[in-house]
Amino acid sequence: MKKLALVTLLAGVTACGDVLDPGTPAAPEPPRADGVTEARGQPVAPLSDVAAGLTALAARLEATYGQLGAAPLGALWLAAPGAQEMGNTVFFRDVGNKQIPVQWVPGDPRRGGRTVLRYGVEASAPGGLSTDDVNGAADRAMTTWATQRCSERLEIERTEILIPAAEVDILHAGFTALPPGVLGLTIPFIWVMSDGMPTDIDNDGALDYAFAVILYSSEFPWAIDAPVIDLETVMLHEAGHGLGQAHFGSLFRTEANGFYHFAPMAVMNAGYTGMQQELKPTDRAGHCGIFGDWPIH
Ligand SMILES: [Zn+2]
Repeated sequence: MKKLALVTLLAGVTACGDVLDPGTPAAPEPPRADGVTEARGQPVAPLSDVAAGLTALAARLEATYGQLGAAPLGALWLAAPGAQEMGNTVFFRDVGNKQIPVQWVPGDPRRGGRTVLRYGVEASAPGGLSTDDVNGAADRAMTTWATQRCSERLEIERTEILIPAAEVDILHAGFTALPPGVLGLTIPFIWVMSDGMPTDIDNDGALDYAFAVILYSSEFPWAIDAPVIDLETVMLHEAGHGLGQAHFGSLFRTEANGFYHFAPMAVMNAGYTGMQQELKPTDRAGHCGIFGDWPIH
């Protein structure tokens, strides 16, 4: 089996030894009138810690799912308020760009020829929430994506059969310990041949999505419809990765006060800045770019 090589696409990251205290995440600031969102920040998680945690996690997931003929491509995460490493992309294969280089193949025979995308939700809940809370947040987040204008051609349905690739494409796989500063992450699995080479059977220039495994941190105070920390918001963001979207928006950090600024504000910003249960224009544009010409199911 091909050895996974961890390749970070980041440069100029400074390490900091502070450790995240998961019990007291900084409260995000409300959006400002000019549309720029701020999140109070203090350094918490050096990239080396995040990368080491993701490498271990990817190895565990590959042991679980690797025999399906799929391999983890990398990980995209949503940074917690105050995290130093605002949601970056760490690829385990050197694919050399920051877009998600993996997309769904309509009618992929390896996924049963489906053009419908299916999602599933593991029966798992963090402290303070019930599985009904988790299911409700996941259903609302997936419905938000499914009811966009450019989703007219794309059907997204829920399945209770949580077998990746065969039955489920986007798996909300529950709550677990994640690297420090990471609220949620998506690990896209791609189809690979027996020699480990990725495939692109529809010649669209993107690797072929096999399934997405989405994990949520068990270390944060999750909430329903409350800013710290709104589960639906994070599920909406991670589902965006499950649907092929990358991060979007420029990040600025004001060193004097440690505030983060995203512009434009979007669900697919790389860091959590408060509740965002509706898609922003750039989120919708990204979705349309992927699914606007999806074959009618
Ligand atoms: Zn993300």
